[in-house]
Amino acid sequence: MKTIIEPFKIKSVEPIKMNSIDDRKKIIINNNYNLFQVRSNDVIIDLLTDSGTGAMSSKQWAGIMNGDESYAGSNSYLYFKDVIQDIFGFKYILPTHQGRASERILFSTLCKEGDIVPNNTHFDTTKANILFQGSKPVDLIDEEYKNTQSIFPFKGNMSVKKLEKLLSTTDLTKIPLIMLTITNNSGGGQPVSMQNISQVSKVAKKYKIPLYIDACRFAENAYFIKQREDKYKNWTIKKIVQKIFSYADGCTMSAKKDAIVNIGGFLCTNNDEVAEKNKNLLILTEGFPTYGGLAGRDLEAIAIGLNEAMDIDYLNYRVKSIEYLGNKLLENNIPILQPTGGHAIYIDASLFLKHINKNRFPGQALACELYIAGGIRCSEIGSLMFGGIDENGKEYFSDNELVRLAMPRRTYTQSHIDYVIEVIIDVYKRRKNIRGLKIIEQSKYLRHFTAKLKKV
Ligand SMILES: *Cc1c(COP(=O)(O)O)cnc(C)c1O
Repeated sequence: MKTIIEPFKIKSVEPIKMNSIDDRKKIIINNNYNLFQVRSNDVIIDLLTDSGTGAMSSKQWAGIMNGDESYAGSNSYLYFKDVIQDIFGFKYILPTHQGRASERILFSTLCKEGDIVPNNTHFDTTKANILFQGSKPVDLIDEEYKNTQSIFPFKGNMSVKKLEKLLSTTDLTKIPLIMLTITNNSGGGQPVSMQNISQVSKVAKKYKIPLYIDACRFAENAYFIKQREDKYKNWTIKKIVQKIFSYADGCTMSAKKDAIVNIGGFLCTNNDEVAEKNKNLLILTEGFPTYGGLAGRDLEAIAIGLNEAMDIDYLNYRVKSIEYLGNKLLENNIPILQPTGGHAIYIDASLFLKHINKNRFPGQALACELYIAGGIRCSEIGSLMFGGIDENGKEYFSDNELVRLAMPRRTYTQSHIDYVIEVIIDVYKRRKNIRGLKIIEQSKYLRHFTAKLKKV
């Protein structure tokens, strides 16, 4: 059959509160054109993030009831640890309350002032946590992959050439680790090939620098490897995942992504010394190493979710439904990042709103317009998120101006998606009348969460 159906039945529902365009016009002004400030009751379709917004399965809810809340030696922790060791293969596993807690602990342990951390593309929290240590995050993507309209199967790949160049020209004591983000979220949810992972690992070994994977969307990345890298087409997703992580020395993970839970994360390493330091930091701010700021029930739900995320029927539905949305937009000449990735559609706002300059935030202007038109909430991944003001007071911008429509896992149905398509087409037809925005208030780190803007 051509029609891909949701491979689940709905057992519990949450009502959506409807509102009107007039309501939303007032709401967006009251919230200073910042969608992070809008309350969820005022949103019809929430595509702000796929992080922690998925629907848990009946098995995960059963796991919640089975959670062992003992302070030490909890069964839930042992189960969590066994599942993660089986899938990812690392020696030391610490639960954390979410991905950025893993990042803060790892970078506090490994980085010092003036260090450099390469990545294919740093996610916003990763970048901010590296900067917070006084270190410098650098993104190493091939130039041709930065063109949103170019089609390559693995646009998330790190540029091995740029990595070699960086390592061969830098004092190596200043590079404490190499990171690789799969899939490349800020780079459009694009996958990284097994070949690239193996090449990056080879270079890392040559220069004796540990390789850590930002593992948030490991299952989606493995699905793309199965689809697009011939050698792996008959491998199970789990076997591909095991192979991916065999190349790394550790990983950070936000379980709010491919573990399909509402909160949680973990941090893994094979290094004894790093593990000890991580553990001490965890105890200081997160909790005992057997729960790390989570409840026993959360650990159960994560362990179950990790295996559900690798289910081939689930992955097929997930990736195909995102492709469906992308193809409908392309049929209507709407510029999106191609090819469609694993967890989101990215509209190229600099092509959609050609008349708005970078310093007037075309991505944010478009995101706000989609909210007004249809109550759809999505996020800007452009100069509001990645731009800023440098030490010399000069404004800098992001390479791309994207609007991300992130799909929560197992949450919306095909008719929700058809509605989203209709709204975007409507806005595209009257794009010439959309005006840009300017910032009236901002913070130093992660400014997109709190910035206040107004129409120019
Ligand atoms: C979400 C995310 C993180 C951070 O995880 P949180 O759970 O939100 O703290 C890090 N890296 C990537 C690629 C992510 O998508």
